[in-house]
Amino acid sequence: MRSFRAAVLHAAHAPMSITSVSLAALRPTDVLVRIRAAGLCHTDLEVIEGSLRYPLPIVLGHEAAGVVEQAGAAARGVKPGDHVVLSWNPHCGHCFYCDRDAPILCEQYLGEGPKALPFDGESRLSLSDGRMLQQLMYLGSFAEYCVVADQQAIVVPKEIPFDRACLIGCGVMTGVGAALNLGALAHGDAVMVIGCGAVGLSAVQGARLAGAGTIIAVDPDPAKLELARRLGAGVVVNASSDDAVAVGKRETGGRGVDVVIEAAGSSSAFRITTEAARPGGQVIWLGKIDVNKDVSFRWGSLMQEKRIRRVSYGNARPRRDFPLLARAYLDGLLRLDELISRRISLEETFAALKRGETIRSVVVFD
Ligand SMILES: [Zn+2]
Ligand SMILES: [Zn+2]
Repeated sequence: MRSFRAAVLHAAHAPMSITSVSLAALRPTDVLVRIRAAGLCHTDLEVIEGSLRYPLPIVLGHEAAGVVEQAGAAARGVKPGDHVVLSWNPHCGHCFYCDRDAPILCEQYLGEGPKALPFDGESRLSLSDGRMLQQLMYLGSFAEYCVVADQQAIVVPKEIPFDRACLIGCGVMTGVGAALNLGALAHGDAVMVIGCGAVGLSAVQGARLAGAGTIIAVDPDPAKLELARRLGAGVVVNASSDDAVAVGKRETGGRGVDVVIEAAGSSSAFRITTEAARPGGQVIWLGKIDVNKDVSFRWGSLMQEKRIRRVSYGNARPRRDFPLLARAYLDGLLRLDELISRRISLEETFAALKRGETIRSVVVFD
């Protein structure tokens, strides 16, 4: 049996502790990945703060890249030494939703997800006192190693540095995918992105890659707006002083924006989206708030053939999309360097999550 260091959350609101955890023998389709970089995402913080409930103790972290250390006898698509980005959306491939091309709604994925264990329900990790350990979103990447199903380990070119590659696993896929996979943008469309964190800045870039015309970025933070400008936004709106809906109308001859992508996770942002979209336009929500909270809309803002969708992983098909996104980075089309605010150690993870003011902090392992 192998043991390695992991950041373990024992109780909501309490700091994570860096602990040695034990790894059980790999099952046939398991893949053991040595983590080289892991991004900090807001979802990790939601678990710490108790707004997202999972069984504890648990290893958080769900945006990571590393090297395949070992592959089970029946693992397909990867071999030791491969560089991989990890996907948090394993799916069964044969349920009602998988048959309808919606792996994010896979019955097994959604059914087993709240247990934070692999599909077979058997934990691969345990603490030194024998207690079993859960893995957030089928990953748990705030650790030196991570056991995943073979379909979650997506091979990417070796040239892309790990700290940039890891971002593809959640934030970048979510944002770029919203524009590129879901936006169905016509060339020259006006796109508004509300919220310029890692997801929003990725949506700005996705819009640029999809051939958008005017890209309007909205955020209360001037530094984030400046970054949005560098990554492709032609118009920026300071949400604390300016009216995004009015700017959207001004930029489109009074019609309203073709595609509005929300990546802010607030009721006010949700409300702006439907007001800003033109008749027949699209609204794509990526952010989230407390699931029991109400959001109110002006009814008129929902009418006129608007298409409104809430998506959580940019319609990702990781085996198709992760290598493409990595390639886009290497070709200079997708910029990831700018999304990394800080590189930190595993020990600094909890403090960095709690502080939470940056675009992306990335845990790097030697
Ligand atoms: Zn995430
Ligand atoms: Zn399924």
